Amino acid sequence: MATAIAEKSRIWTELDFDKNGKQTGYLHLPHSVTRSAYGTIAIPLAIIKNGKGPSTMLMAGNHGDEYEGQIALCRIMRELKAEEIKGRVIIVPAINLPAAMAGLRVSPIDDLNLNRCFPGNPNGRPTEQIAYHIETELAPMVEVWVDLHSGGGSLDYMPYAQVITSGDAKLDKKALDCLAAFGSPNSVIQKFNGETTMANSAARRNKTVYFGTEAGGCATVNIDGVKLAYEGTLRILSYLGHLPKDSRLAPPPAPKTRWVEIASRDYYVYASQAGLFEPKVKLGDNVRKGQLYGLIHFVDDPMREPAEVYFKATGILSCKRHPGRCERGDCLGHLVSEVKR
Ligand SMILES: [Zn+2]
Repeated sequence: MATAIAEKSRIWTELDFDKNGKQTGYLHLPHSVTRSAYGTIAIPLAIIKNGKGPSTMLMAGNHGDEYEGQIALCRIMRELKAEEIKGRVIIVPAINLPAAMAGLRVSPIDDLNLNRCFPGNPNGRPTEQIAYHIETELAPMVEVWVDLHSGGGSLDYMPYAQVITSGDAKLDKKALDCLAAFGSPNSVIQKFNGETTMANSAARRNKTVYFGTEAGGCATVNIDGVKLAYEGTLRILSYLGHLPKDSRLAPPPAPKTRWVEIASRDYYVYASQAGLFEPKVKLGDNVRKGQLYGLIHFVDDPMREPAEVYFKATGILSCKRHPGRCERGDCLGHLVSEVKR
């Protein structure tokens, strides 16, 4: 007999999304393996609800090696009380739990990158099932979805908040207003490029406002990045009307943000060959088109001259490759440039 193909997400929870109060528990992803035939992967979840009002999802751990958002959301999950909010806040601090527990960008179970798996598959590998659950169950329940990222093991970011525009003018205006309220020293606008497998595309398909952070990197914990993820998220809860202005959790007011954009593919720098990359520019530095970014050294052939790497645009170095060794095709960093808004 043929096995029935599920159309509905196989992930389930004992929590009730419509119930008032603070509930903490899990999204259960069925995962049958030798050591646990009827096992599930238990992905932490909080639903905090108090009557009518906005519905917002706070998410981190989309990539497991991006830690600042995971720390900020675990703290907010512990601190937030139902009686002091309005509406519903859904918190998922480690959405791709296997990746988060392994400290990896991709899941160690299926080697998949959640943020390239949308719209997902209810019958697919565990990471595809998580994507499907977000796409068909979680995103449709909220008006705003905050997805906290960082650079992970291979990149280092100047901590900032970011919107990838959707092409829907109404959604984009709301997302940019949220970004201003988030209060990052730098707010990045990245133009929609037709990508369909990332979380922002799931949000677009659901008409959900979507934005997030790049709050640090190097597979470590950036102090400024944790502060930005924590305070920025509380500012958003306040801006959206979940938290009263005089809340005990009210964060400091948002500093004035500098609006920047990633204007073209030329803002990215790629390694032309494998070697040991020596940057000549620091994160946050202003650079010019044609300026030397760094040298790729060949330590197994020391008499060979290093390859020079140049910037193809003018801007601020906002993201830089973290490991010294690189392969041809690796992204060595990218720029942003100031824009009026
Ligand atoms: Zn990420």
